[in-house]
Amino acid sequence: MKRDAGGEAIAAVQNYIHYLQRLGVTELPVTLAPSVRTEAAALPARAAATTLPAQGAALDAEPAVRLVFGTGDPAAALVFVGEAPGHDEDVQGEPFVGAAGQLLDRIIVAIGLRREQVYILNIIKCRPPQNRNPQPDEIAACWPILQEQLACLRPRIICALGTFAAQTLLQTEERISRLRGRFHRLGALQVMPTYHPAFLLRNAQYKRAVWEDMQLIQRALGLR
Ligand code: URA
Repeated sequence: MKRDAGGEAIAAVQNYIHYLQRLGVTELPVTLAPSVRTEAAALPARAAATTLPAQGAALDAEPAVRLVFGTGDPAAALVFVGEAPGHDEDVQGEPFVGAAGQLLDRIIVAIGLRREQVYILNIIKCRPPQNRNPQPDEIAACWPILQEQLACLRPRIICALGTFAAQTLLQTEERISRLRGRFHRLGALQVMPTYHPAFLLRNAQYKRAVWEDMQLIQRALGLR
């Protein structure tokens, strides 16, 4: 059957919604800030750090409406960015609820906060099959959502958990071992890369390094 222009537009929207559903999107923002929308459309596999919105940037929708795929206090000064949901997170629909999440909870408590006082989200919004590493096209597909989230949250500090979070946010191929241990500027935000809690579960000798990174965050937030 031949479709008119209106029918084609509806079909295009339906296709896009099905595409988002396959990515795991369950809510859509009512409006998008134009700067966010156009920048997101042009992003390569690894997003340019300069495209992140500055703190205080004019946004045209209520944060609560536009915020998806995370947990915690939307007004938090500190946001943890992980890699991707694992099995437990897939089942519960919440980031960092499995063994790595329990360790993350202890790390948060160690710096004087509770899980409910920070915000936690992932770079990738769907669980990669067999927990394999996220692929560049998957990171690129999820980047506009992450960008929207950060535009809503406008934290002071992002703690990037592990290689994929750190390399994606900072748009670098540098190893996590060389990135961690200091703050990196990202527009108005500061990013502290550190080792991923799942990595710590397998390599306890790196806990000291993470604790050093956390103390830098603690100081920057005036918690010690
Ligand atoms: N690892 C992550 O990076 N994110 C989760 O939500 C769980 C485990």
